[in-house]
Amino acid sequence: MSENEQLQSVAKEGDWTASTETRATLTTGLKTAVLKVANAIDGAARSTVAQLQPGRRRPPRFRDHALYQSMMKYRLLGDTLGLEDPFFHEHDSRLGATTVSGGRTMINFGGYDYCGLNSTAQVAEAAHAAIDQYGTSVSASRVVAGERPVHREFERELADFYGTEDALTFVSGHATNVSTIATLVGEGDVIFHDELVHNSAIVGAKLSGAEIYCFPHNNCDALQRLMMEHRGRFRNAMVIVEGHYSMDGDIPDLPRMVEIKNRFGAWLMVDEAHSLGVLGATGRGAAEHFGIPFDDIDIWMGTLSKTLASCGGYICGSKELIMILKFKAPGFVYSVGLPAPATAAALAALRVLKAEPERVTRLQANGQLFLEQARLAGFDTGSSQGYCVVPLIIGDGIKAVKMTERLAARGVNALPIIYPAVPMKAARLRYFITSEHTAEQINEAVRITAEELKVVNSLGGILRRAPAAV
Ligand code: PMP
Repeated sequence: MSENEQLQSVAKEGDWTASTETRATLTTGLKTAVLKVANAIDGAARSTVAQLQPGRRRPPRFRDHALYQSMMKYRLLGDTLGLEDPFFHEHDSRLGATTVSGGRTMINFGGYDYCGLNSTAQVAEAAHAAIDQYGTSVSASRVVAGERPVHREFERELADFYGTEDALTFVSGHATNVSTIATLVGEGDVIFHDELVHNSAIVGAKLSGAEIYCFPHNNCDALQRLMMEHRGRFRNAMVIVEGHYSMDGDIPDLPRMVEIKNRFGAWLMVDEAHSLGVLGATGRGAAEHFGIPFDDIDIWMGTLSKTLASCGGYICGSKELIMILKFKAPGFVYSVGLPAPATAAALAALRVLKAEPERVTRLQANGQLFLEQARLAGFDTGSSQGYCVVPLIIGDGIKAVKMTERLAARGVNALPIIYPAVPMKAARLRYFITSEHTAEQINEAVRITAEELKVVNSLGGILRRAPAAV
């Protein structure tokens, strides 16, 4: 393999080659460094092959696993390029409008506490009281370990909030999607989902065994075409969308989707992870935003980890739907019940949200302010509608990672989203906005981000800071 081919083979999975500008700055020293990495990885790959020869019994080592090797490529390249790892940073405080990390207070845009409920006394007190009464765990599945009153109390209030007949909580938002989708549809059924739905919905769809059709983001015409072409061949059909998308901050045309799913006889499942507490005058989500009846949607899904300041997931819908899940969804039946303190915290958060809808008003105003300021500063904000998620699209993944490092040094916590979470050249900094940010914090963060982007762009490719050789 020629030097160039080796270099490309190391790079092909990462978006660090995304811009020509970046590529142009590769120095001979850096090439040598990358080649060393490539050789080390090739060596590891060869040793995996050796272990797979017949007669060899030792299981392959995890360090030889393709996934591990792929991660090491990123890590070694990051080290070589002098980039700090932006992920898994330690925070020593509650994540709110600010956070404390590495002894520094930063303006925080890295959390989902959209309505600031994780910082309310009511939520903490409810969790403490539930620990005192029930302990930290309910020990087993609710099927066998039984209910705690707070489970049903919360589920009833959640169902009321959505105007549905019933609700059910799961211990994880991710497991809620996986388990619900895989329980309700299977072989002989069909799923149509937006291309940007969360990983948990995609995993659930794959596990279900149903045929899957994915339509371009928010494209109702494409959904309709797929329905016309394929719906007739299947028994049950399910359409899966989000009420508000967490990577782009945009919302689907829900009334049109309702009209399509009704015409073709399909269930519509809406993931409200990023719309509960965010959309609608009182935070009731996508249906309130569009002014459509809640029971137009067959399956409401949401998480407790965002606005509700807890951990877990929920489904709201008809009493029959909830009964099916309660007895058949593996993620509920065969998994431990939601701990009482987590349930009590979510219930208290829901009550604060209902009592203080001004939190939603503040959040929406802050989202609009951020979007407006970012656009004025010349940022590409994609299709964000300025609720609680505003991406600043940088393009080059390495620049996005570098930006996070530089922003932290200036007291702003904003995380990069890079391939494969978003397409190769759509790397971004993602800002989560809360009701508790002040206008000054928002203005300052946008100003600092614009200043830092100028610096990063002027580096002529951040690889310039890379060491000459390793
Ligand atoms: N759905 C969506 C849209 C999400 O963004 C997430 C996670 N952020 C989940 C489901 C899974 O929720 P959890 O992290 O609470 O398990």
